[in-house]
Amino acid sequence: MWGLGVLKGFGITIKNMFRPVITVQYPEQRLPIPERARWAVHAVFNEDGTPKCTACLICVKECPDHVLRVESSTRPEGGKHIDTYVYELGACMMCGLCVTACPYDAIEMSHEYELATRDHSDLTRMLLFDVDAASPRRTPREDAAPAPTGTEAADA
Ligand code: SF4
Ligand code: SF4
Repeated sequence: MWGLGVLKGFGITIKNMFRPVITVQYPEQRLPIPERARWAVHAVFNEDGTPKCTACLICVKECPDHVLRVESSTRPEGGKHIDTYVYELGACMMCGLCVTACPYDAIEMSHEYELATRDHSDLTRMLLFDVDAASPRRTPREDAAPAPTGTEAADA
């Protein structure tokens, strides 16, 4: 019948007018982020503001994209000093392997997802800079792999 297609079209339009809205007007509206979402890697700090990182380099070894770089030195009084902990965010695939491998829960996958930038230098981040590392004698997580020996860490 002539015009049947037009009537069908109107029917679909009217049906959709009464369906609940499922679109979100981003950025004015935002959907809640699932708890286990993985976005940019962040450093984790103790309550007193000191980093939890011990500069053990396990995360550096584990990262398949080689986007983590920790430069550390030995303090005269013992222990390590983190000169820089660099994170190449632009090349990170956000797999979370570094976070899983860290025996001290010193890094986390954050919910920071608005990462677009016009400046490429924004994609290289300094997670830690010029801070004393936490003591390597801290108790690691129970399920963590054994911490590397001094020789292994030096080889990283
Ligand atoms: S303590 Fe965690 S974040 Fe720090 S170097 Fe070791 S694995 Fe990486
Ligand atoms: S999330 Fe994956 S790719 Fe990104 S820094 Fe960690 S291990 Fe590397």
